[in-house]
Amino acid sequence: MSPSSTPILEFDGVNKYFGDAHVLRDVDLDVEDREVCVVIGPSGSGKSTLLRCANRLEAIQSGEIRLEGEAISAPDADINRLRQRIGMVFQSFNLFPHKTALENVTLGPRKVKGISKNDARERAEELLASVGLSDQTDSYPGQLSGGQQQRVAIARALAMEPDVMLFDEVTSALDPELVGEVLDVMGELAEEGMTMLVVTHQMGFAREVGDRVVLMSEGRIVETAEPERFFADPDTDRAQQFLSKIL
Ligand code: ADP
Ligand code: MG
Repeated sequence: MSPSSTPILEFDGVNKYFGDAHVLRDVDLDVEDREVCVVIGPSGSGKSTLLRCANRLEAIQSGEIRLEGEAISAPDADINRLRQRIGMVFQSFNLFPHKTALENVTLGPRKVKGISKNDARERAEELLASVGLSDQTDSYPGQLSGGQQQRVAIARALAMEPDVMLFDEVTSALDPELVGEVLDVMGELAEEGMTMLVVTHQMGFAREVGDRVVLMSEGRIVETAEPERFFADPDTDRAQQFLSKIL
């Protein structure tokens, strides 16, 4: 079996309940190495929960989630090590307000991975440059725009050298004029071959950067298709309905 034949992230018959609410229903999804998989769907359909389960921020009740073949849902899984391998960026940036951009990026590698101060700094400077922030390394979050803060958050996640990046509506809290700079950084990351699972309402991004679009509705995956096909000629009524509302 070649290494590329194992998906990076697999959801296999995943069910998740909050009390009586069945919010993920028999979800099967494979995210392949270097793939950009874009998850769309109405509010409340389970998109955030899907990502949160992948990072074990939420437990699942049945099924299995695997990272490169290793069950992350297993009771004996090393959660800290798994989380290092799964980078996550949220709608709210959650930067440490009293730390500079550079310190926000170096903190994880230094504390969790035990990387030396100099090495962490060097790598953080590279990462901040790669997200277009080489002139803001010493700024505090409060001195940065939302778009800049979100780019620091992306650099911070990348500093842990994850195998896959999860993005949950990372542009939803931004002023419209700042959305593009964050999507551009994500597009570059995709180009470099990062494996990405992206929840977004940005259909332009889904179309241009996505390798695959997954539509969720009421906790189920109702359609999976290549973007071109999904937007031009979706199979399901549910997808047509969704598209007619947003396009
Ligand atoms: P989406 O991200 O697609 O908007 P979510 O995954 O946030 O959807 O939510 C899916 C469903 O799960 C919704 O009905 C929501 O109300 C419910 N839900 C999400 N988080 C919790 C929670 N912590 N406790 C109870 N219900 C929750
Ligand atoms: Mg959500």
